[in-house]
Order: sequence, then C-alpha cells, then structure tokens
Amino acid sequence: MSSAMTLKAVSVNAIEFDSEFNDFAPITATSLRKALTDPKELMRRLGYRLQQSLDVSYVVNTLFEEISVVLDVQSLDYQSEQHNFSFNVGKKTHHRAIYQLTVPAEDLGSVQFSRRRKFQESELALLESLLSIFVYPLRNALQYRDAIETAFKDPLTGAANRVAMDGALPREIEVAHRYNQPLSFLMLDLDKFKGVNDNYGHSAGDLVLKETVQVIETCIRNTDMNFRFGGEEFVIVLTNTANPAAEIIAERIREAVEGLVCNFEDQQINPTVSIGLSSLQQSDDQAILFKRADQALYKAKNNGRNKVINAE
Ligand code: GH3
Ligand code: MG
Ligand code: MG
Repeated sequence: MSSAMTLKAVSVNAIEFDSEFNDFAPITATSLRKALTDPKELMRRLGYRLQQSLDVSYVVNTLFEEISVVLDVQSLDYQSEQHNFSFNVGKKTHHRAIYQLTVPAEDLGSVQFSRRRKFQESELALLESLLSIFVYPLRNALQYRDAIETAFKDPLTGAANRVAMDGALPREIEVAHRYNQPLSFLMLDLDKFKGVNDNYGHSAGDLVLKETVQVIETCIRNTDMNFRFGGEEFVIVLTNTANPAAEIIAERIREAVEGLVCNFEDQQINPTVSIGLSSLQQSDDQAILFKRADQALYKAKNNGRNKVINAE
C-alpha cells in the first residue's frame, strides 16, 4: 500500500425494500383500516405507490384506487390536452369536483371526480392533500411519456423512426408466425429525390418528405405502421394483411403520392414513389422478408420507377 493511501471503515447498510414496504402492496383489510383512521398513512401509501412507475395510466389509476379507500368517489376523468392524453375510470355521475393541475410554468391538465352525493368541504380538503402528492409523480410520468415518444419519432416527418422499427418489427413477425396471421411488408423509396433537392433546394425536399408521409398515412389503417427507414426510404408494415390486399394498398399509396402536388414557394413539385412488396411466408425471418421487398423495390426502380413490384 502506498503511504498516500488511508483505510476507511465503511459500513454497508442493506434494506430490502420489498419486504420493508410489503404492507404497501395490495390493499388488505389491515392496511385499509389503518388508512381510514389515519390520513397521514394514506398519504404515505399514495406517495410510495406513485413512485413505483412512470406510466401515466398507472399513476392516475393509483390515485383513484387510493382515494376510493377513504372517499366515496364513483369516477375519475383525467385529461391533458397538452400531452394528448386522457384516462377514465368508473362511471360518471352528477356531483363533480374538478381541479386544474399546474406546477410552476407547467399545465398538467385537469382531473374530475364524480359521485352521487355532494362533496363536503372536509372531503375536498382531503382530496386536495392527496392531489398535492400526486402532481409531481404525474408531471414526471408525463415528461417520461413525451421523452419516449420523441425517442421513437422522426422529428421531420413525425413518422416512427428506425429505433421504433427495430423494436416493433421482430415482435410483429413473431406474433404473425405464432397465430398464423398474414403480414405484409412494403419498402418505399421516393423517385429521383436527389433531383428535388438539387432543383428546388433542401427545404423543398423536406416539405416533400413531410407531405408524402401525410399521404401514406391516409392510405393505411391505424394498426399499420409506417417507419422512416432512412433518408427518403420508408418501411410500411401491414399487420393481418395477406398479399393480394397488400398489393391493393401499395398501389393506393403509389397513386396517392402520384396525385400529390407540393407547393413550395411558387413552384409545384409532383413526387412519385417506387414500392417493393413482400408478404411473410412460413419459414421467413425478418432478414428474408426485407431482402425480398428490397429486391422488388430494386426491380421497380429498374422498370421505370413510380411502380409497385410484388415479390409475394
Ligand atoms: P432513386 O429514384 O433511384 O431512388 O433516386 P434518388 O435521387 O431518390 O436516390 P438517391 O439515393 O441518389 O438520393 C436520395 C436523396 O435523398 C439524397 C439525399 O440528399 C436526400 N435526402 C435524404 N434525407 C433527406 C432529408 O431529410 N431531407 C432532404 N431534403 N433530403 C434528404
Ligand atoms: Mg430515392
Ligand atoms: Mg433511397
């Protein structure tokens, strides 16, 4: 040991949180009695449970569960316009208590409780103390939800990005194989897109990409997925769609893009796309599915572009 080093006594404390806080888990007769007689206990419980997840639905539902332990509340309706999120539990009745939730400089939406009887002042006071414990876990969950959404989205077009595709596609293929459901796969590439940038500028190219994505999304169902795979290439996963139906959809997309007129400054740009289609076969893995669609796309390009080639 060098003389510059000293030894320190270190004591390590181990707490097993699961066993320590086990009584916070499901509501038992004992915990219920405790909470009913001691609002502080209820707040401690709520605070502990709200720390356990960053899922907004979990956080809001936990508030409802814990409030229902001490108050007769029939429903909870949470809405956040800013975060494009809503959650309802229970059945709405006529007496309401509505709270607008804000923390400094942040609007967290509103929460509405309802029940058949009028709310008493003392009950509203209890609701408010529980809400004061709820707001920051709610804020954290909303921020986490936004961060996750941003991480999986292409900022230019709003389409899901490559990271989202790498997460979703293996799962979709596995589900299709397991339940013996059809799945089709489109690879789409804008035609002569470099020319759009060269002739009209990069901003015009960006506009064309954005508008093309909007058009694609009008041609597919909510359950289908459109991913921006790379620059001007997209991958569209059509769940529960067999090859003949997928060809119709691919053709619909091709036609819709052909009909798109992008107005950039005083110019009009008419993009077109080439599409390669392949549908999942029994022995296919993701790589084979990709390869067939890619080869079909290559053929579409070689056959003059603005075409759908079906590799089946
Ligand atoms: P092809 O019909 O063979 O597909 O020809 P192409 O010109 O579309 O193909 P190429 O791969 O040569 O060009 C793709 C172009 O897409 C080049 C690149 O600068 C452009 N690009 C990629 N991402 C973006 C983007 O986000 N915005 C803009 N404006 N252009 C992009
Ligand atoms: Mg291209
Ligand atoms: Mg390309």
